[in-house]
Amino acid sequence: MSAAPAGRTRLLLATRNGKKLTELQRILDTSLGAHRVELVGLADLEPYPEVPESGLTFGENALLKAREGCRYTGLPTVADDSGLAVDALGGMPGVFSARWSGRHGDDLANLNLVLAQLADVPDEHRAASFVCAAALVLPGGKEHLVEGRQSGRLLRAGRGDGGFGYDPIFLGDGQDRTNAELSPAEKDAISHRGKAFRLMAKVVAKTLG
Ligand code: IMP
Repeated sequence: MSAAPAGRTRLLLATRNGKKLTELQRILDTSLGAHRVELVGLADLEPYPEVPESGLTFGENALLKAREGCRYTGLPTVADDSGLAVDALGGMPGVFSARWSGRHGDDLANLNLVLAQLADVPDEHRAASFVCAAALVLPGGKEHLVEGRQSGRLLRAGRGDGGFGYDPIFLGDGQDRTNAELSPAEKDAISHRGKAFRLMAKVVAKTLG
């Protein structure tokens, strides 16, 4: 891969999710000025053995992925990990959010399993939060970790076609629409990932800017 143009810093976001890349790039451009940081994703690089998400917290998983990315590429690396923490389930699905039903990435099966598990839980005990940890690991070994959270509660049936994952059953505090009924910009403004990425943009500005 060619060197970053003069005046620009190249930063790896250790993900294959193009939407995450676009979101963080937009936030970095807003915070630091357009094109100060050039974000690359895993799809832009030679493949390297990716580390399993074996941590028990979002922060541990974000750090594992960021350390691995930095080690293999030599680039300052950001990685994030996120999911849904349900109070009545003791914080689960948590880091198991993507594979709660036993089938990795089956959003509908995961959502339906959470609904079934909460069938007898009354409205006042249906609090839940989306949580996102974002880690930055620098080639010199320095590490930074930030967290963003969106608090709300879980409905008894899904509403809306937007977003992904558990969005249709999640009603954020102060909202009358589920996350799946918000536009992408509305969701970014209040979401766990939007908050974590904005905090991370400040860390990147201080560290690399
Ligand atoms: P990841 O950070 O993309 O690995 O997210 C892991 C899992 O958490 C996803 O597969 C979803 O089940 C859930 N999740 C994370 N962020 C969101 C969100 O913004 N809306 C709905 N579900 C989410």
